[in-house]
Amino acid sequence: MNSAIVSLKPEISADDFDAEKIRADFPILKLKIDGKPLVYLDNAASSQMPQQVIDRLVRYQTTQHANINRAVHYLSEVATMEYHNARCKLQQFVNAREDREIIFTSGTTDSINLVMHGYGRKFIKAGDEIILTTLEHHSNIVPWQMLANEKGAKIRVVPINDKGDLEVDEYEKLFNERTKFVGLIHVSNALGTINPIKHMIDFAHQHGIPVLIDGAQAAQHIIIDVQALDCDFYAFSAHKLCGPTGVGILYGKAALLESMQPFKGGGDMIASVTFEETLYNTIPHKFEAGTPPIAAAIGFGAAVDYLAAIGIERIAAYELSLLNYATERLNDIPGVKIIGTAAEKTAVISFTIDGIHPHDIGTILNQDGIAVRTGHHCAQPVMQHFNVPATSRASFAFYNKKTEVDALVAGIKNVQKVFL
Ligand code: PLP
Repeated sequence: MNSAIVSLKPEISADDFDAEKIRADFPILKLKIDGKPLVYLDNAASSQMPQQVIDRLVRYQTTQHANINRAVHYLSEVATMEYHNARCKLQQFVNAREDREIIFTSGTTDSINLVMHGYGRKFIKAGDEIILTTLEHHSNIVPWQMLANEKGAKIRVVPINDKGDLEVDEYEKLFNERTKFVGLIHVSNALGTINPIKHMIDFAHQHGIPVLIDGAQAAQHIIIDVQALDCDFYAFSAHKLCGPTGVGILYGKAALLESMQPFKGGGDMIASVTFEETLYNTIPHKFEAGTPPIAAAIGFGAAVDYLAAIGIERIAAYELSLLNYATERLNDIPGVKIIGTAAEKTAVISFTIDGIHPHDIGTILNQDGIAVRTGHHCAQPVMQHFNVPATSRASFAFYNKKTEVDALVAGIKNVQKVFL
């Protein structure tokens, strides 16, 4: 039996979770692809949007839209207040101490680049070391490589084992007097591994080192409490939490954000400007230059309200039941190999089929209306570890059903029939 079959929260049962009722909130799930019902299993890339969030966007655009912070007229005041409310909803969602610790960005990638420019370029020097892990998405590798190249700093990498777990002992051995920063993925997008970030944050803090968590694959499955985690930065995107594209957040501890230099210059991030000198605004505004994604941020607020009303722990318990069922069923198909079998996983299954290229798998599944992702998932070091160029990845959300797992299994058998 696969080691992914675990029970995360025995006290919360998946039995009373009514996925059918929840599906009614998602208009796109009614789509047919070439006459076949859509089976959407690409949720790790982007999840779908419920009517409640769509309605919120429509209400904003039809009755509340104006630019914020810049006028005294009615609409500008309403939009400013709603944008601020959205910040407060995100503050509550991650349990940040203060609303000014929530920066709206264009997404996880932008949040990480903000930390690299704002913190890294100010505080990392030649010879310093930055610790990352093999599981990182490219968006938490490339910015740090750019910084390392610019500064003459060095990247140290935490290895993984063949289940896709981080080797935490090796992480601890990487620390020395040159270590200056740690970037950690909370949940692997390629494998679903949930990393022991609390332990890893505490260990880094024992050495006085700040930690950035890439939570792009976590915040929709795990309750995030940034105060309990005590992370220094935490980043995620709305479009993976049933919200709009083009917006995400960076949580940062206020004192750290205050110590950092701005990432982008422009309107709203200033207190005063002369040609001789610019004085910067206070946080969060210092990091929100120009017109922010107002509508998207308000939609993001509605999305986290929607998820919180269902309950992240209930979502996690139900998704775990899907993961366990799908893992069992895929393990029963000869020639199918699941890549990533960590004991703690979200509902992500990366797999290969002997003798068939992942791209061909995705193409044939698509003919059956089944949407999976194929490729390296922006995690090439993970692919390199497992010595595969790519995988197919089915990633489940709380609106998926066991019958859709059955459809995936039938689809995979059909792919084998076509190619073998
Ligand atoms: N980090 C992880 C773990 C991801 O899965 C993704 C997106 O797939 C990102 C970062 C980048 O997110 P975005 O493209 O929304 O900036």
